Amino acid sequence: MTGMNMSKPRLDEGIHHLDPPLQESRPLEGWSGPDLKGLTGPETEAWCEGQGLPAYRGRQIRRWLFKKGATSFHDMTSLPKALREELAQLAVVDRLQRSETRISQDGTEKILFRLPEGHRIESVLIPERDHFTLCISSQAGCAMGCRFCVTGLGGLKRNLAAGEIVDQVVQVRRSMARPERLTNIVFMGMGEPLANDDAVVRAIHNLTCDDALNFSHRRVTLSTSGLVPAMERLGRDANVNLAVSLNAADDDTRDFLMPINRRYPLNRLMAACRAFPLPNRRMITFEYILIRDINDRETDARRLVRLLRGLRAKINLIPLNPHPSLELSPSPPDRIQTFQEVLTRNHYTAIVRKSKGQDISAACGQLSGEPPG
Ligand code: SAH
Ligand code: SF4
Repeated sequence: MTGMNMSKPRLDEGIHHLDPPLQESRPLEGWSGPDLKGLTGPETEAWCEGQGLPAYRGRQIRRWLFKKGATSFHDMTSLPKALREELAQLAVVDRLQRSETRISQDGTEKILFRLPEGHRIESVLIPERDHFTLCISSQAGCAMGCRFCVTGLGGLKRNLAAGEIVDQVVQVRRSMARPERLTNIVFMGMGEPLANDDAVVRAIHNLTCDDALNFSHRRVTLSTSGLVPAMERLGRDANVNLAVSLNAADDDTRDFLMPINRRYPLNRLMAACRAFPLPNRRMITFEYILIRDINDRETDARRLVRLLRGLRAKINLIPLNPHPSLELSPSPPDRIQTFQEVLTRNHYTAIVRKSKGQDISAACGQLSGEPPG
């Protein structure tokens, strides 16, 4: 959830709804109905047929869900009233409940959602110069335990269903004054998307499919801590941009920062990156959090250059977002500058990304799922 562009806040163009009140009595606890926003078109038609309805009802429902902003079956006015009432007994439109929105001084908005059983997840809407990027969650919590990340501190609560991933986009877009300006999606919120790859691949289908949300593949980016087998699958099954949270260029440092490195060390991770199918002129983004005295020396930068040699790569340098529960500090500005210079001298695009939304805990690694306060 980072962005260079410090454009002025344009709150009138972001979310303009008042948050709806919590509806604690919704019949979602233990809900076993269909995950409509996570089904494909043919699956939605098949579900309708299973209910004794013609297949075209499935296409109508999908249009209401993804194109026409229905918030309930009652909104689906092209369906007969009796059918709408019947459907309302069988399925839900919004699996997530919007509970709270916080707006940062830089215009970043953090939207908190409540899952049916009560866990909370977050999405972050980031204003860029001429569009918005939405950063979405793939899990409640995270099991990866990276030492620098607040999301990981509480462990994994559960995977999100595909429809819950998609619902973040549907609900945020629906509440924007100019929904067409939301053009970019990044899987950089709570969770490790490739630890929930079935649901994430399914969600990407509905994000990019033209009979659903119709985002351009080029404008969807998935960030991973480096789950190698699922990276291979992603390359096969979904055509999106890849970002890799690298954070170290040697195994000892990466083992210390990111336990996943012990399972998939750098040689395997880099082999998976080299094998990742990159369409013309696309690059893999490597995210590198700069942590004082841990990974920010000039020798680390030179090692990084050697590691990335031959790869179509760009590097996002992210000064650590400090947090009281973390025992790490951000690198000082002169270290950051030297690190960046080593990379640019070696012809890599290396951008220092200032995290947005720090004042509302919406910045990278600050998402805890707790109500902001
Ligand atoms: N699990 C995935 C995606 C979510 S984390 C992944 O790790 O890539 C999203 C980004 O936040 C990652 O790039 C991670 O490196 C970054 N991040 C986590 N904690 C951070 C912190 N304290 N300061 C700055 N960035 C952080
Ligand atoms: Fe999980 Fe990513 Fe945080 Fe690591 S950085 S704990 S993988 S969310």
